[in-house]
This record gives sequence, C-alpha cells and structure tokens, in this order.
Amino acid sequence: MVGTQTDPRWDNIIGKEWMCSSCEDLHTGIIDLAYDWPDHWNGDKAIHLNNKLTRDAENILTEDFCVIGGEHYFVRCIALFPLQGYEDADFGIGLWSSLSKENFITYVEHFDSDEQDHLGPWFGWLSNAVGLYPDTLNLKLKVYPQNDGQRPEVIIEPTDHPLAQDQKNGISYERLTSLYDFMGHTVN
Ligand SMILES: [Zn+2]
Repeated sequence: MVGTQTDPRWDNIIGKEWMCSSCEDLHTGIIDLAYDWPDHWNGDKAIHLNNKLTRDAENILTEDFCVIGGEHYFVRCIALFPLQGYEDADFGIGLWSSLSKENFITYVEHFDSDEQDHLGPWFGWLSNAVGLYPDTLNLKLKVYPQNDGQRPEVIIEPTDHPLAQDQKNGISYERLTSLYDFMGHTVN
C-alpha cells in the first residue's frame, strides 16, 4: 500500500541518507532515540551485557533491565509514535518503565522464551524525562511484552500531556526535528 503523505518535509529524511550536522554521521531515514538507563539510576554507567545477573542483583544495569536498591525495578521498552502527515513509518523512543517486583520477575524468567505477549499488559511509570516535553517522569504506562525478543511496547495513558498526544495523534515534523536537535542530531 502506498502511504498518504501530506507533509512534504518528511522527504528530507525518509527513505534516504542524511548527513547529520551535529554528530557528523550519515543517518538513514527516521532514527529512533533511546535512553540507556532510567533517570533514577545513579550507579555505574557501564552496562552489564549479561541479563542473567539480574535475578540476584540489588543494583544492576543491563541493556534491558535495571534494579535499584533491591526494590525498584525497571525494564527498557519502546514507545512508537506515528508521524503527522506521513503514513507507513513510525518514530520510536527507547525508554524505561518501572514494573512491580512480581511483573519484573515474571518478565526476567520469560526473557529467553519467544512467547511473552500473553504476559501483559502491565502497569508502569515512565522513568525518563524525555527532552523538550513538559515533565514526563511518572506518566502512566501500559507495558506490552512482545514475542521473539522484541522490547516491550508502551502506550502512554491518554491524557492531554503533549507526549501522550503525540503518541495518539502523531508527532509533527517540527517536533521530531527539534527533538533530534536536542538529542544531538541535526537535520539541515
Ligand atoms: Zn546525528
């Protein structure tokens, strides 16, 4: 299916390589942004590559999990945003959600299985301040575990918060390129 495009500025980045004037890398199309840890993490920023260490750790950060003080549990997720004025493409932000201890343990135990989507949805609190938006910490999330090793998808509680609105209605070209700029990637 050919998508409907009503904002021609998306052609500046979609379906092509674009030279980033901030990091001076060549990016391809829509690039996702990501946070490597929840904002609550004050520990070592070296990320453990072994998720199996998570089970017994009091304080740990891996690519997928974070435990703080043996009582706060976080998982790395992805929030997908449609684009305003362009169908057939999404923008994603890798961000962290809290989970209850019970749901976190369930998730860790099922992590190596290919079938996780029956586990959720779970409740979580958004655990990153997403740049440019009014305070996003502790927005309410529904966390949907995915199959085949994909990170859980989150749906932000539908409120009038701009981040929730952007997930529901689509992110505009202006907002996305401003967000890129803020995160160190500049579209000329
Ligand atoms: Zn860049």
